[in-house]
Amino acid sequence: MKYVLDSSAIIEGFSPPLDQEIIIPPGVLEEVKNKGYEFEGMKIISPERRHIEKIEEIARKTGDFEVLSPVDIEILALALQENAIIITDDYAIQNVAEHMGIKWISLHQRGINKKVRWKWRCESCGRYYSKYYDTCPVCGGKLRRVRIK
Ligand SMILES: [Zn+2]
Repeated sequence: MKYVLDSSAIIEGFSPPLDQEIIIPPGVLEEVKNKGYEFEGMKIISPERRHIEKIEEIARKTGDFEVLSPVDIEILALALQENAIIITDDYAIQNVAEHMGIKWISLHQRGINKKVRWKWRCESCGRYYSKYYDTCPVCGGKLRRVRIK
């Protein structure tokens, strides 16, 4: 089995069983390098464009797109491409993975146990939107991300 680790999984020292392969996208390598972490035995693989686009498409539908970083998208796209398990504590990554049928393991937290969808709600007029706007299209108020059941 292959594992894709996010930066905090590497920094926290997650270690899968010895014979397992660890792969990371270039963005994760940059993040851990910047924090001074050295490591061996990890394979750097760039996810293909089509997998990135697929993840972006699903993340827009689940409402996670605005909170996912480009590196988070790479992590998800790489797991999709390589049929790997993601090691992450990031709820947005876990949620998109869940929707995509990608397996994930949480480092510490119990993780989400059901799929979550998000909407944006205007703090001024209270309208809900399924996609993100910089300001409310009706009243210009600030939008806040809310979880819907
Ligand atoms: Zn409004």
